[in-house]
Amino acid sequence: MKKNILMRTNLLVCLIIIVGFLLTAVLSYRANYSASLQNIEEVSSLTSEGIYYQMATTFTKPVNVSLTMANDSLLREYLSGEGERLDDPSYIGTLSEYLGAYQRKYDYDAVFLISTRTGRYYNFNGLDRVLDPGDPENVWYYELLQSPEDYAMNVDNDEVEGAENRITVFVNCKIHDESGEVIGVVGVGMRITSLQAVLQGYEDKFGVGAFLVDGNGTIEISPRYTGYEAVNLFDVTHYSDRVRREILTWKEEGMARSFWITGGSGLQKTDYVVARYLPELEWHLVVNQDTATLVEALNRQLVLTMLVICVIIAVILWVITHVIRTFNRQIVELTRSVEQERRTVFEKATGQLFEDIYELDITHNRPANHATEQYFESLGAPHGTPYDKALQIVAKKQVKEEFRQGYLDTFLPENVLRAFQQGREALRYELMISRDGGEYYWMRITARLVPLEGDGSLRMLVYRQNIDAEKKQEERMRLLAQTDEMTGLFTKAATQRRIEDCLRENPGRLYAFFIFDIDNFKRANDSYGHAFGDGVIREFTRILRGHFRADDLLGRIGGDEFAAFVAAPDETWAAEKAAELSAALDRAYGAEEKNWHLSASIGVSFAPRQGDGFDGLYRAADAALYKSKERGKNGYTISDGARGRD
Ligand code: GH3
Ligand code: MG
Repeated sequence: MKKNILMRTNLLVCLIIIVGFLLTAVLSYRANYSASLQNIEEVSSLTSEGIYYQMATTFTKPVNVSLTMANDSLLREYLSGEGERLDDPSYIGTLSEYLGAYQRKYDYDAVFLISTRTGRYYNFNGLDRVLDPGDPENVWYYELLQSPEDYAMNVDNDEVEGAENRITVFVNCKIHDESGEVIGVVGVGMRITSLQAVLQGYEDKFGVGAFLVDGNGTIEISPRYTGYEAVNLFDVTHYSDRVRREILTWKEEGMARSFWITGGSGLQKTDYVVARYLPELEWHLVVNQDTATLVEALNRQLVLTMLVICVIIAVILWVITHVIRTFNRQIVELTRSVEQERRTVFEKATGQLFEDIYELDITHNRPANHATEQYFESLGAPHGTPYDKALQIVAKKQVKEEFRQGYLDTFLPENVLRAFQQGREALRYELMISRDGGEYYWMRITARLVPLEGDGSLRMLVYRQNIDAEKKQEERMRLLAQTDEMTGLFTKAATQRRIEDCLRENPGRLYAFFIFDIDNFKRANDSYGHAFGDGVIREFTRILRGHFRADDLLGRIGGDEFAAFVAAPDETWAAEKAAELSAALDRAYGAEEKNWHLSASIGVSFAPRQGDGFDGLYRAADAALYKSKERGKNGYTISDGARGRD
């Protein structure tokens, strides 16, 4: 029960904590998630804008420089005269000087001039090579010549001697002569690594991806790819055709097109994309940021939160368990001490009334509580002894022999069951028992029979009450009722009953029955008054007592008539006793100067000779007494015997 409460409390607390924490976690997850999405949108947009302007600035200048060079009439003229000075070193020197000046001024990696007529490729070092139309490396050049555009950009390896084929962005511009014919191509080149570094910087700083792609989606510049490798953005991303269209058709100058890409179940936002168009380059700037890192960070946070929750729950459960257990222990101790106190008071009160209280399961023939078990064990009944066997042990050890059978008849389980079936709800038996071999004392055993509803068994609650004092008082009262007030001797009725009992219990045993009658007592009364007569009676009694043992039966059976009933060794002894008493009672008595001579007439009869009952004995003794009176009093007569004084 206690455990259940503890478990329920713990479960409830767990539930509250889990629900509370989960709610907080989910809410904060959602808040963090949407804040992070917003952050992604802002960062991507700002990054896109930053790159856009930086690229625009970066490329506007080389375009302008290339255009300036292409429209330089001096250069045009100089190029027109190439045919005549093909082998003139000063011609090449001047050209390289011209190109070198631009290179130094703008710090470009490449500044070049190609003559369409000769296919010669000049740079600031002089004549680098002559372009071969069959070389695929030169496709860009021939494509530019074919295109209607005046200038174009391409990303390529720089084949110039000393450039070690490094990837470079070239801005190539056609040079027209006065008739409009293309006579050359002039251009500048910038190493792509610096542009890649710019994009890489954004990537590192803001966690975005940045790509410059051409109209087909081919990556021209990104931190990882260059146009030279001709990798398509849509091959390295999972973007759909719709997204591809969205990006590649967006050509609003200076404006950004941004949108979320969803994936997974279709609801999860996976990427935020910002697309811009750089018209001078005809390239698209794509800045994207995926939510994977964010989701991972949030998940990590969630797992951490869960771990913290688990630890907190464990600590709280431990604390609750500890507190409840301590509390329970205290409650139990308190209850126990209150119960103990109550029991002590109760036991003190009942202890005066009842010596012991036991409980027995009559149906199952066994003790029903620990105290009862202990009591049986204390009397030597081994643990687990059935109740009826234990009862017999108790009877033998404690109960006075004459009460044993009655005790067993009353309390043996089969007898109890029978009594209960006969409608009795209480049993009572009074007996004498002794404890630990001490003196016997009176005990009243009261048993209440209670059928137990739970298991249907019959229970017996036994109260043992020491009634020794009560019994002794009762005995005293009984004796008092049986004795004469003045003399303390038994009344006639008590004398008669006791003699009858004695004769019944010991049939055949020789008893002598004496009757004493004070001689001329009436005269004592008449002469000296009733009080004096009473004194005579008391004196008479005193002498009588002095000649018998304490347990001999002495009674006052008439006003001045007394009886004694004693076990006699033989009739001679009785006769001697009668003679002895006759002599002892023959004496002077005086009180307040009144003198009187006391004497008694005695008659003696015998049991069983004169009868086995009081009446027979009395009649015979009375007849003998009468004879003594007749003979002149102050003597004794043995019934059916002629002995006597006088
Ligand atoms: P006997 O010698 O033949 O026995 O003659 P008695 O005078 O003793 O006559 P009886 O035995 O018939 O008389 C007994 C008298 O004892 C009668 C009664 O008044 C008197 N008596 C009986 N009880 C008491 C008593 O308690 N106190 C006193 N003072 N007298 C009593
Ligand atoms: Mg008399």
